[in-house]
Amino acid sequence: MYNRRKSRVIRVGGVAIGGENPISIQSMTNTPTADIAATLAQVQALAAAGCEIVRLAVNNPAAAAAFAEIRRRVTDMPLVADIHFDHRLAIAAIEGGADKIRINPGNIGDTAKVAAVVSAAKSRGIPIRIGVNSGSLEADLIDKYGGVTAEGLAESALRNTRVLEGLNFDNIVVSIKASNIPMTLAAHEILAPQVDYPLHVGITEAGTLYAGTIKSTAGLAALLTRGFGDTVRISLTADPVEEVAAAKELLKALRLRQFGPEVISCPTCGRTEVDLIPLANEVSRRISHITAPMSIAIMGCAVNGPGEAKECDIGLACAKGFGLLFANGKVLRKVSENEMMSALIAEIEILAKEKIV
Ligand code: SF4
Repeated sequence: MYNRRKSRVIRVGGVAIGGENPISIQSMTNTPTADIAATLAQVQALAAAGCEIVRLAVNNPAAAAAFAEIRRRVTDMPLVADIHFDHRLAIAAIEGGADKIRINPGNIGDTAKVAAVVSAAKSRGIPIRIGVNSGSLEADLIDKYGGVTAEGLAESALRNTRVLEGLNFDNIVVSIKASNIPMTLAAHEILAPQVDYPLHVGITEAGTLYAGTIKSTAGLAALLTRGFGDTVRISLTADPVEEVAAAKELLKALRLRQFGPEVISCPTCGRTEVDLIPLANEVSRRISHITAPMSIAIMGCAVNGPGEAKECDIGLACAKGFGLLFANGKVLRKVSENEMMSALIAEIEILAKEKIV
């Protein structure tokens, strides 16, 4: 559908990134990693929400020790250690069972320190993500380009991949993140033809739940439809579980992944003759456990209602005091307003069971 950029395959625990593999969803815990109970609870909440890779900040020795303990207790989720500045923490996280580490070699220090980290990653067979961020671009590149630019971000990523390659290491994932969408796009356009490593994509520091979701969606949709992106993280100033929910909706909307039902509901207007907004919200809430892919239309009147309802696996086209329930493009039956919700959910549950069988 979109012309996805070709990339090599890198394994992060049980998840393969790149190549033809599904675009995976990541998030990052925001509890202090040293608080093992809180961080474990958040990893579990992220797993339940559908997160496929979880990253934890390893910012001090206590966090590194906690990371190892969390690793011991979490057996079914790839865990990534996020390290800045201190190569000893990177090595401790690798020895503690990290499935990948994220570093910015530019802030790890001299070549000997980077080489020590690479040697540890090699010995455990785990990848390193080079994470270039507009907020921490190297000073010489800021000077060279007169500020933070797409060219500087791409050059930083390329330079850092060359550092690892110079150490005979190519188990690499690359990310370039900026909060500026055009700059992020341009940086990917420059970098992508020069490397075949999988790309972790995101719009950094995108903002709060509502604004950040929109901004991330705008940026990630532009990247993904241009073929850039093998794994995504939506960064929100919110509960990380919201990042996963937003990423699932985004990949679903772009038809890149399937995660349970897609609900198509009309915005309502002056023609709407039933209380559609709570109906659509409540149906969405009650079917959130369903994993079988299907399309569901919930429409407020006869203008577009029957048409949309026919196009979906299941549909409800409302009128004054009643609705027409559709399945597979045909009218199933007429239901009164007060039985619309239960009738619709019952049909969805039946279809979900059929699809799973
Ligand atoms: S489907 Fe009907 S009620 Fe809903 S927005 Fe369209 S015209 Fe209005």
